[in-house]
Amino acid sequence: MMRVLFASSEVFPLIKTGGLADVAGALPAALAEAGIDVRVLLPGYPEAMQAAGAKREVGSLGDPLAIGVDARIVSGKLPGSGVPVWLLDCPALFDRAGGPYQDAKGRDWPDNALRFGLLSWAAATLCTDGSPAKWRPQILHCNDWQTGLAPAYLHAWEVLSRPGTVFTIHNIAYQGQFPPETVARLGLPPEMYAMDGLEYYDSLSFLKGGLFYSDRLTTVSPRYAKEIQTPAFGCGIEGLLAQRSADLVGILNGADYGVWNPTSDPHLAHPYKPGDAAGKARNKVAVQAELGLAPSADAPLLVIVSRLNDHKGMDLVLSALPTILRLGAQVAVVGAGDSSLEDGFRAVAATHPTQVAVRIGYSEQLAHQLMAAGDMLLMPSRFEPCGLTQFYALRYGTVPIAHATGGLADTLVDTGYDTLMTGTANGFVFEHCNAGAFQWAVERAVALFAKKDQWRKIVTSCIGQDFGWSRSAARYIDLYKSLVANGKGRGKE
Ligand code: ADP
Repeated sequence: MMRVLFASSEVFPLIKTGGLADVAGALPAALAEAGIDVRVLLPGYPEAMQAAGAKREVGSLGDPLAIGVDARIVSGKLPGSGVPVWLLDCPALFDRAGGPYQDAKGRDWPDNALRFGLLSWAAATLCTDGSPAKWRPQILHCNDWQTGLAPAYLHAWEVLSRPGTVFTIHNIAYQGQFPPETVARLGLPPEMYAMDGLEYYDSLSFLKGGLFYSDRLTTVSPRYAKEIQTPAFGCGIEGLLAQRSADLVGILNGADYGVWNPTSDPHLAHPYKPGDAAGKARNKVAVQAELGLAPSADAPLLVIVSRLNDHKGMDLVLSALPTILRLGAQVAVVGAGDSSLEDGFRAVAATHPTQVAVRIGYSEQLAHQLMAAGDMLLMPSRFEPCGLTQFYALRYGTVPIAHATGGLADTLVDTGYDTLMTGTANGFVFEHCNAGAFQWAVERAVALFAKKDQWRKIVTSCIGQDFGWSRSAARYIDLYKSLVANGKGRGKE
């Protein structure tokens, strides 16, 4: 059985701020189902420790970064899938009120370099003879900047029989940059702070550590893998990625249909079989009543489940809202993010309470309810590494309206004469990311919504799509196998 350590800063359902958690919850479960001996490593946030039932101590890691207290590994299980989780228990760093990256006011924790430096250090250590556990991975799979220094530590320590390393970019816009003195603070050798190493425009970049020192790089859709090698999407890292393009592959994320299944969704007032239009309509009635929207079956309900920022194109939504409202559509939003956008949405909701409903914050329940009640999902993202909400929308019979970028471009087929006739249309997609193009896509969708027979065709093609994890998990397994076959991953059992 191949042994894989999967390191992530968030894992659903233990802790979640975005799509990374969904992937880190579902992919290991799919890997385990395919016969991989996988363990997930995650910071020991108190709510995660509790939800994972983490009580059994695997062992102590000591105090490698001189924080003043020892860190330890405690094991638990992912609820649902039962995948083993190792939590990095260090209350001084992880037991605090607020989010995993920021305090309650949205400010980054000032010691994030130490917090995720320790997470990276722990991931690397668990692959070496310094591990308190007997189990050693053949593959270390790191995710996003928070675990980016793990391959760098393995390089610094010159570990002879190290595992193969895979680093997945879930979003290149977040890079984890810290002042140069952090290099020494995290116990990394000064010579690694160089252009061919950890340095990025005069700061230490955790992300670059992952990209430079890992054996293989992946990202979450084929289109995004190409995009990030260009200046428009590469956030300054495009040069390094182009250099490493032979080692970079895009593997599309999947949807966890155990969590996102309208037939058995515990959050819904009226669970329904995909394709049961009357069942879906009952959820629309319930949500309209709950949110104070006018009770109307004919008004198309446009939903948003998203972080509210410009990356997600939420400013475009605000610009296009007056037109959307003139079309007679309703809009329901659950999201949180930039305060100016939050205020903008609140203001429109206040002046149009029966047409626009906005709930600022994070609500798993409302996210599911909107997916079920909506006729269309709005995703005008300027960039979108993969995007997961479009998968959920498709399964719930809610038609995505999206910008053709990243994973959205890889998964959605625009509705036109041909695609409607051939039954392949599963969304309304626009090429140029501006308010006019977005508005036009919404207008096309709303016009087709009124033609019930044609709308049914699109919905039928949406619900028929299968974006389950098993196909993508098989591609990761092939990648792991290729590394082990190349002599990487000789870790001990
Ligand atoms: P990203 O990771 O960039 O935020 P994705 O589409 O990949 O975007 O994943 C977002 C995930 O977070 C989805 O599972 C979505 O349902 C969830 N989500 C985003 N905002 C909220 C919110 N305000 N309340 C509940 N779930 C949310």
